[in-house]
Amino acid sequence: VKVIVNDKIMDRSEAAIDIEDRGYQFGDGVYEVIRVYDGVLFTGDEHLERFYSSAEKIKINVPFQKEELFDLMNQLIQENKVKDGSVYMQLTRGASPRNHVFPGKDTTPVLTAYTKEVARPVESLENGVAAMVADDIRWLRCDIKSLNLLPNLLAKQAATEQGCYEAILHRDGLVTEGSSSNAYIVVDGKIKTHPATNLILNGITRQVLIRLCEQNNIPFFEEAFTLEDLRNADEIFVTSTTSEVMPVVKLDGKEIGNGKPGELTRKLQVLFVEEFESVKKA
Ligand code: PMP
Repeated sequence: VKVIVNDKIMDRSEAAIDIEDRGYQFGDGVYEVIRVYDGVLFTGDEHLERFYSSAEKIKINVPFQKEELFDLMNQLIQENKVKDGSVYMQLTRGASPRNHVFPGKDTTPVLTAYTKEVARPVESLENGVAAMVADDIRWLRCDIKSLNLLPNLLAKQAATEQGCYEAILHRDGLVTEGSSSNAYIVVDGKIKTHPATNLILNGITRQVLIRLCEQNNIPFFEEAFTLEDLRNADEIFVTSTTSEVMPVVKLDGKEIGNGKPGELTRKLQVLFVEEFESVKKA
């Protein structure tokens, strides 16, 4: 199996990372996870756009043109014969003697990428999943897709230990997002999700969903909602690149609605599948 280190595609066994790589020591870098459906990158443009934007926000210069990155990722997908899977790519500030201060211009950022096969979570998409509520203890730049994921990991681990798929986070009672997803409620046929501020990651799946709702006249509001709204919602769902539109049918042990995926959530699932199916064919 092949991986990318900087501008080269090589065997995974040949890839080497310096022990003083700043990504390894400080989490000083950014990343993306891009879905591959039937060998084709889904919303690759949007993900690469966010990759550059995350890098810029932490003052890392991406040492590649967007087209070069696209070509590299597509080559990797072909080499590894990925059918339904994902590409993980990350860029760190590079390797240099450990120091909080940024290294000089002679240190170049390090790009790595690999692929894997990932099946669609069809069973969960069909039946829905359980979630729990947790405190959002993250920093105030959650709009950056940074390698620093400790608070997210702690929340996800707590959720897993509770038999939950996801932890839905809140700051002082206002719901922000999931530990690795965006979170939504449906109330009286209207969808609500936290606005794309510094407190959430503006998910690419979220952006696709907003567009699909616009195109299909489904009322969508980028408006923060409370824990109480969440608990009393008609429907809850979360979205991400690998979770797609995932119904949440149980929150902190209590059923949401009738304990089955909601009607509007199901409709969004259909629209989302149509969307990636049409891109595949194009
Ligand atoms: N929020 C957080 C904190 C995430 O980690 C993710 C998944 N990377 C998302 C939202 C969803 O983003 P996307 O739809 O681009 O996968």
